[in-house]
Amino acid sequence: MVLTTQRKAIIEELKKLKTHPTADQFYEVMRRKTPKISIASVYRNLEVLSSAGMIAKLEVSGTQNRFDGDISMHYHLKCSKCGGFVDFSPKGSKTLSKSLDKVKELNMNIDNFNIVFNGLCDKCK
Ligand SMILES: [Zn+2]
Ligand SMILES: [Zn+2]
Repeated sequence: MVLTTQRKAIIEELKKLKTHPTADQFYEVMRRKTPKISIASVYRNLEVLSSAGMIAKLEVSGTQNRFDGDISMHYHLKCSKCGGFVDFSPKGSKTLSKSLDKVKELNMNIDNFNIVFNGLCDKCK
């Protein structure tokens, strides 16, 4: 994967956002900075960057994929009212990392994981 100027700009912009935008929403943000950017290249680069592990893709059934510039281990709460995705790291989240280590002992490879909690965000609850 070649880290082109455009891809670098995409990573940089995505890291600034805490909103976990869809590709469409992210395109709107990018277009404000780079009016010449095409929606096709934003879509394609989001896919390329997420499969390279440079950004995270949240695949949740019943909604469009979301993208996240924060690739550290954290979880998401999907608000059932506003549809927003909020980052959180519960205390004791090490338990999950430990159970992932257990899976590794079984000689399996985990490339990524997607855990989304459903509930109400701070604004909606
Ligand atoms: Zn909400
Ligand atoms: Zn996140």
